Amino acid sequence: MKRQSIVAANWKMNGSFGLVTEMSQGLASLKLANDVTVVVCPSTPFLTALSDAFEHENMSEHVSVGAQNVSEFEKGAYTGEVSTSMLQACKVQYVILGHSERRAIFNETSTQVAHKVKAALDAGLIPILCVGESEAERAAVQTETVLASQLQPVIDEVGIERFSHIVIAYEPVWAIGTGKTASPAMAQETHEFIRSFLAKSDEKIAAKTSILYGGSVNAKNCEELFAQADIDGGLIGGASLKVDEFSVICLAAKGTQ
Ligand code: PEP
Repeated sequence: MKRQSIVAANWKMNGSFGLVTEMSQGLASLKLANDVTVVVCPSTPFLTALSDAFEHENMSEHVSVGAQNVSEFEKGAYTGEVSTSMLQACKVQYVILGHSERRAIFNETSTQVAHKVKAALDAGLIPILCVGESEAERAAVQTETVLASQLQPVIDEVGIERFSHIVIAYEPVWAIGTGKTASPAMAQETHEFIRSFLAKSDEKIAAKTSILYGGSVNAKNCEELFAQADIDGGLIGGASLKVDEFSVICLAAKGTQ
């Protein structure tokens, strides 16, 4: 079954116009495997500059720009929010939704995340839907229950068919920014669970959905993680701020399978 391989960079609240230039030049020189897409998600002020830089380097075939969040509302009195049409004006194609930092620090619920996924899809953006359990939830053998509770509201809101335009990122919260990576076998087992959970609603869609792994991925561990059958790439935080290291990770993505 062919699935798209994706390596996405989550710069979080880091980066600069200097990094925009450095990253676009660094990525322009990479020979990516077939069907690998690299998505770079900077903070909102850098979106247009990054889109322009990718266009300037003629990279749009393999490289896209993503945002880190979007409002579920179309427009109006929502100070500080950014709408889907504003992202489109910045030539954004992907948007990270439901990142654990948004869920934990900004209290986003799975219902709200589902509304955001719908808004993004309706606007033609591709959501990168993040799901993952905390350390305590894994210790309490609650991982599958937690993942199901994060996925089901999105299935209910948009319907399983629309998962053909959604990318999932499995990010165990305990592995994000901590240097603790899930072992390749543990990550594979959880990705397999996510795929089987989607398959209960539609086997074909489940087989085609790209599921990325995120959580302390780096140049050293990426190859073994990406070699797992149900891992279709990665969502990379800290290591995506270093052009050389991020390039190694992009080159490890396996491409057409
Ligand atoms: C992330 O923020 O999505 C992430 C995976 O971060 P890190 O790679 O730094 O763990």
